[in-house]
Amino acid sequence: AMIGIEGKVVAITGASSGIGEATARHLAERGAVLVLGARRGDRLAALSESIASKGGAASHVVTDVTSREDVERLVAHAVERHGKLDVLVSNAGIAPISPLDELRVEDWEAMIDVNVKGVLYGIAAALPVFRRQGFGHFVNTLSTAGIKIVPTMAVYAGSKNAVRTITEALRQEAGPSLRVTGISPGYVDTELPSSMTDPAMRAQGEAAMKAMAIPASAIAEAIAFAIAQPSTVDVGEIVLRPTTQG
Ligand code: NDP
Repeated sequence: AMIGIEGKVVAITGASSGIGEATARHLAERGAVLVLGARRGDRLAALSESIASKGGAASHVVTDVTSREDVERLVAHAVERHGKLDVLVSNAGIAPISPLDELRVEDWEAMIDVNVKGVLYGIAAALPVFRRQGFGHFVNTLSTAGIKIVPTMAVYAGSKNAVRTITEALRQEAGPSLRVTGISPGYVDTELPSSMTDPAMRAQGEAAMKAMAIPASAIAEAIAFAIAQPSTVDVGEIVLRPTTQG
């Protein structure tokens, strides 16, 4: 397998904004070949064009990670177009947080569907490809919400800790030929509050971001660090928070 980032084919879910977009831009600048997935095709098309205008390589597939078929199509596109997939960054996520007493059961289900099942569909799509190739790297986005548990984040934190557990089990089962990395950001300046359906939570989320969020480029650099390691070096989990986050 290759060392570094140049020439690696990287598929990213949730690439239309925030951490996914920043990661796509950063990896493209460093010579990766990007395959972008998210629901908003117009945003993905604009990002692909922007990357291409700077000499990078990117294509996109409209992908809803709650659809197993969509995630399969994203991975298949990478393999058909580029002959391989080096890295799958399962980054798509939503955070419609609220106190449990509000019984926003549809929001709970949506977080499980996107944050947990979306990552599982990524594993189902890419693991056979990685096995066939004899190399591959899963990068899953977790959260510090799963490290320091606070009220209103029960289901969100639970979804991220489900992925943390799945990520560690995947690492153990993966064997020496595959790599598995978890990225745990704290507050990052992105569009994530737009996924918050409870107005009070959304106002709080936007305020927290204004007060202390770090830029998405910081997370992109951490993901790039993990990808750039020699194939024998498996970066397990990286936690990045604003220094002002408690
Ligand atoms: P953004 O809202 O900016 O980005 C979320 C991305 O996920 C968008 O590209 C969105 O695209 C995509 N997405 C949402 N639902 C789906 C879906 N059903 N299918 C495919 N894509 C979907 O927020 P962030 O960049 O912050 O979020 C990225 C990840 O980082 C998430 O997993 C989030 O939980 C995690 N995270 C963020 C933190 C923060 O403070 N910002 C802290 C810790 C973790 P589209 O709407 O076009 O589908």
